Amino acid sequence: MTEKINGACLCGEVSYEINNRFDQLYLCHCKQCQKTSGSDYVSNLIGEVGSLSWLSGENLIERFDYPGREFTNAFCKVCGSGVPYLNLTGTAIIVRAGSLDGKPIVETISRIFYAERSRWADECETANTYTGFPSVA
Ligand SMILES: [Zn+2]
Ligand SMILES: [Zn+2]
Repeated sequence: MTEKINGACLCGEVSYEINNRFDQLYLCHCKQCQKTSGSDYVSNLIGEVGSLSWLSGENLIERFDYPGREFTNAFCKVCGSGVPYLNLTGTAIIVRAGSLDGKPIVETISRIFYAERSRWADECETANTYTGFPSVA
C-alpha cells in the first residue's frame, strides 16, 4: 500500500492527503507560473488521478484556467496559497510541492519552460544566503 502524505494551504483551511508517489516534479518556469507565484518558477508534482482526498476546505478553492495554453491556477480563497487540482485533460493531479507537510517521493525532477525563465533568475544563483532576515548593522 502506498503511504500517504499530507498537505495544506498557509491558513490551514484547505487540507488534503495524497499517495506519496509522484511520477514527476516539474520546476515550471513558464510566464504564467511566474505571474501566479510572483517568483521565477513553480514546483509542481504530478500525482495519480484518484489518489487525493480532501480533508477540509474544498469549498474554499478557486480555480483559474488560463485561455490559450494548458495552464491552471487553483488556490485557497482565504490565503491565496496554491492547492492541488485536476489538470484540464483529466490525466493528473497537480500538487504544489510547497503545500506538502513532508518530503515527496519523486521519480524524476525536471525544469520545464526554461526558455521563459525570468531575466533575473540567473543572477540569483550566486545570491547571499542567511538563515533568517539579514541582521541590520
Ligand atoms: Zn488558505
Ligand atoms: Zn508553468
